[in-house]
Amino acid sequence: MFNHKAIPPLRPHVLDSSNLGTPDSFWQAELSTAPDWSPPAGPVVVVAAHPDDETFGAGGLIHMCARAGHAVTVITVTDGEGARTDLPEPGVTRRRELRAALSCLSDRYIQWHRLGIPDGNVVGHESFVERAIKTRLPAEATLIAPFEHDGHPDHEAVSRICIGVARRRAATVLRYPIWAWHHFSPTAWRNTEFVRFELSAEAQLAKARAIRCFASQLDASFSPAVMPPHVLGYFTRPYEAFLT
Ligand SMILES: [Zn+2]
Repeated sequence: MFNHKAIPPLRPHVLDSSNLGTPDSFWQAELSTAPDWSPPAGPVVVVAAHPDDETFGAGGLIHMCARAGHAVTVITVTDGEGARTDLPEPGVTRRRELRAALSCLSDRYIQWHRLGIPDGNVVGHESFVERAIKTRLPAEATLIAPFEHDGHPDHEAVSRICIGVARRRAATVLRYPIWAWHHFSPTAWRNTEFVRFELSAEAQLAKARAIRCFASQLDASFSPAVMPPHVLGYFTRPYEAFLT
């Protein structure tokens, strides 16, 4: 179960995706010994600070759980409108991209709740977000949340809220890094507990297709792209890694 003391006290808070960051081969070596994990039978709720986090962090899980007949819910806390302010309606664009991505991830029904909190200011709406997640978390659900030291204030705020809700409900919560793969080094995580969720070939394909739906984040004409190719490597592994 979740252990606060295991989390390294590093808070980079520097989202500079233009630098190459930690090579994924370093992570792959570290994760090669992580134990296998798969969600227990029952509902799965994946919470994302911005549309696309759920796909990058847990798209394969969403695909495989939906296929296995779990009730899958995705909650997006903001519309991510702060990432591409050069676009006329970035929030609308990212919601459209998310709809397309979810349909790539599964042809089965995935419930999607949009909370519409302003991008970059989750911390100013924590009570609302907490209530919204609590009311959408069924009994016996597995909660999949962002990582509380991911380096983005929204990711961290959503993570703290999810951890708090899970603790009060005695629910299982696992967290997925996004930016931490880039900014952290595996040596900072010696005491943390990763698990691996192996992805079927079909899940890897569905996730790859879903990632391509987020054109606004991959757009190389926007310099630097929000998610440049060297960052995408963390999300095309044949497994997904979560912190327990
Ligand atoms: Zn995000």
